[in-house]
Amino acid sequence: MRRAQLVVVGGGPAGLSAAAVAAGLGAEVMLVDDNETLGGQLIKQTHKFFGDKGHYCGVRGVDIATILSERAGEHSVTVLSATSVVGLYPGKVLGLANGDSFRKLGFESLVIATGAAENSIPFPGNDLPGVYGAGAVQTLMNVYGVRPGRRVLMVGSGNIGVIVSYQLLQAGIDVAAVVEALPAVGGYHVHAAKLVRLGVPILTSHTVKAALGAESVTGAVICRVDGRFRPVAGTDRRLKVDTICVAVGLTPLAELLWQAGCRMFHVPELGGHVAWHDEYMETSQPGIFVAGDVSGIEEASTAMLEGRVAGARAWERLNRRTRESRDIIDSARLELGSIRKGPFGEKATCGKQRLAECVPA
Ligand SMILES: Cc1cc2nc3c(=O)[nH]c(=O)nc-3n(C[C@H](O)[C@H](O)[C@H](O)COP(=O)(O)OP(=O)(O)OC[C@H]3O[C@@H](n4cnc5c(N)ncnc54)[C@H](O)[C@@H]3O)c2cc1C
Repeated sequence: MRRAQLVVVGGGPAGLSAAAVAAGLGAEVMLVDDNETLGGQLIKQTHKFFGDKGHYCGVRGVDIATILSERAGEHSVTVLSATSVVGLYPGKVLGLANGDSFRKLGFESLVIATGAAENSIPFPGNDLPGVYGAGAVQTLMNVYGVRPGRRVLMVGSGNIGVIVSYQLLQAGIDVAAVVEALPAVGGYHVHAAKLVRLGVPILTSHTVKAALGAESVTGAVICRVDGRFRPVAGTDRRLKVDTICVAVGLTPLAELLWQAGCRMFHVPELGGHVAWHDEYMETSQPGIFVAGDVSGIEEASTAMLEGRVAGARAWERLNRRTRESRDIIDSARLELGSIRKGPFGEKATCGKQRLAECVPA
């Protein structure tokens, strides 16, 4: 069984940044990702990213994926793509699956940067063909060039809901409406405003009540909800759509952290169960680090910075602290602090504070 000094699981912005930083400092790094192409969520993001200049603001997500992948390549990171980590076993061993083959890989130190999975909501007919998660719609359209349908109801007006709605319009697909259970739009105003200008109604305090159709979606019933998200009688409306796209948030993909025996806490502001970690992204299991959405749902910019902290600290744990490693950590932590001070950082800041107050056994 091969044993690597540092294994990074997940080739999104967090994992790629961790791998590049650790390899740049001199570690022997293996990066494992279950997709053919590195970049995680970024490979389906055709829009220009928001944020600040230092974090690729104005650059398309798919181009950021290329930049980060090239950087990891320059630092001689060994990449195992199309390979899933399916288990974490005692003795610092990972189980890797690639097609029908299974093998084990040992590690001295580990960064888990597996990202997040999409949430769904229960409603009659939500298992009909034509009901998608927003990530699947993006993958179909932006990675494979396949239109998911002709007329869509979007459920959720967070950044993902409004951005994917706009991308649907760009692909020539009609968006019948965006429904949002909260009384206000959740995503950046700039994205929502584009939809409104293009005539897409954004119905706040509304939800999807049912998907209609026998073999596949032929329509949707929407209704108004009250302050406690209960349907308001007499407000049902039918929309003729062939696709219902659900964009109602993400949950950290934390299975490997549970298997590792990390202390886990439920922090709603971070999207669900997350591993306790210190300010250097190290979990309660020494030598096991987290970075990116798996440590709390945020953005690509914060994922990259957390990745840098985790990568540099993992290297320090394996070797020694140097001025270079310290500089990387200090500057990344400083930038994380300033991003989280912004209007959209409030939730994550609150969640990270709450997690810090939890005490690992
Ligand atoms: C529609 C949309 C728009 C967005 N717009 C912006 C934006 O404008 N600006 C911004 O900053 N952020 C934006 N984001 C958020 C950003 O894309 C994510 O926060 C970021 O990609 C998280 O990075 P990550 O590395 O933690 O996870 P991911 O990008 O999800 O990468 C995780 C990787 O790990 C792999 N993986 C998971 N489990 C395993 C396993 N067991 N074995 C092997 N591989 C595994 C996954 O397949 C994936 O490739 C957007 C997200 C969406 C969906």
